[in-house]
Amino acid sequence: MVSAALDLMTLEQAHTSGAYLKRDLQIVRGEGAALYDADGSRYIDCVGGQGAANLGHNHPAVVAALREQMETLISCPEMFHNPMRARYQAELCRAANMERVFLCSSGAEAIEGALKIARLVTGRTGIVAAMRGFHGRTMGALSATWEKSYRQPFEPLIAGIVHVPYNSIERLAEALDESVAAVILEPVQGEGGVHPAADGYLIAARELCQRSGSLLILDEIQTGFGRTGDLFAHQHDGVQPDLMCLAKSIAGGVPMGAVLMGERVGALPPASHGSTFGGSPLACAAGLAALDVLENGDLIERARTLGHEVMTYLRHHLPTSAVREVRGRGLMIGIELRGKAAPVLRALQARGVLALPAGPTVLRLLPPLVIEEDDLWQAVHAIEEVLRDAAG
Ligand SMILES: *Cc1c(COP(=O)(O)O)cnc(C)c1O
Repeated sequence: MVSAALDLMTLEQAHTSGAYLKRDLQIVRGEGAALYDADGSRYIDCVGGQGAANLGHNHPAVVAALREQMETLISCPEMFHNPMRARYQAELCRAANMERVFLCSSGAEAIEGALKIARLVTGRTGIVAAMRGFHGRTMGALSATWEKSYRQPFEPLIAGIVHVPYNSIERLAEALDESVAAVILEPVQGEGGVHPAADGYLIAARELCQRSGSLLILDEIQTGFGRTGDLFAHQHDGVQPDLMCLAKSIAGGVPMGAVLMGERVGALPPASHGSTFGGSPLACAAGLAALDVLENGDLIERARTLGHEVMTYLRHHLPTSAVREVRGRGLMIGIELRGKAAPVLRALQARGVLALPAGPTVLRLLPPLVIEEDDLWQAVHAIEEVLRDAAG
């Protein structure tokens, strides 16, 4: 690698928080589903910005929308009306079949908002979350997250949150009573190992919430915006949430989060919640462009068909001596290994393929939905080769 790049990696290592286990790779440029390092080496991106790059890197429609808005108005707090925000909020609510939206800047902030709104609207305090669930790193979102190593150093977390086994209708029913403000679930658990909701689980959760007077919060931060082969993953299950959290690919890679609110929630009391950057015209412009690309192109259909083909191939061609199970929906794919994911990820990187873990033993693929078929199959074949080598 060129020495200026090495110097800058050393500089970053010296001043960065230390909170991230960084890979030995400096990414300088991206286009579609390709990422480039300082030497100009090309990588096939199956990390997809950890889910923020469904539209690929630097999508031209998002870039054009940002350029135009940036020269008009970048910041504008929600104490004022703004025409870009007005259009975006209306379009997002229409697309999500929800009534209102609270805009913020990240996934965790959207979860915080949803938890607060659930307590405010119901006057109750209890929250039921799922084992293996992941909802973010701020105190409230972390309290709803399951992974002990993320939680324990920061205890005591907020009170009133219980975790039930994901996909058990019976255990969810037992946890619900008139003290529960909301149930929070991912339609496909991402970080927790790529576990899709079983058929009927979300429908049952919807009915149980209705019965106990609790709200159903769906965390679609990772599953949203075409990833699973529907605009939102819950459409596959035919359920309508009361609150839906969005972020990641909401604005073509520009930071934004959203809490969508259904009719059981209604309008919030004035001054009950807020966010300085929420509803920034710049993020709204990017969000509007991103939504238009997804709704008026073939990316969602591609995610569905390519995801199905890839998972079918992987199920038939990966060595069972190295692989326990291939799971997922659309282009959200998890390969549960018999061993650790880390060495497999390193071997893939050496072959020009970047992928993610989801826990210690699951290899996760979140390629941009714009990925060229050749690149996707090259990544699949690299995984097959690396796992055959691992199997010996
Ligand atoms: C990434 C993620 C979050 C947290 O989003 P941040 O923007 O990193 O705060 C919450 N829930 C799910 C399902 C996620 O995948």
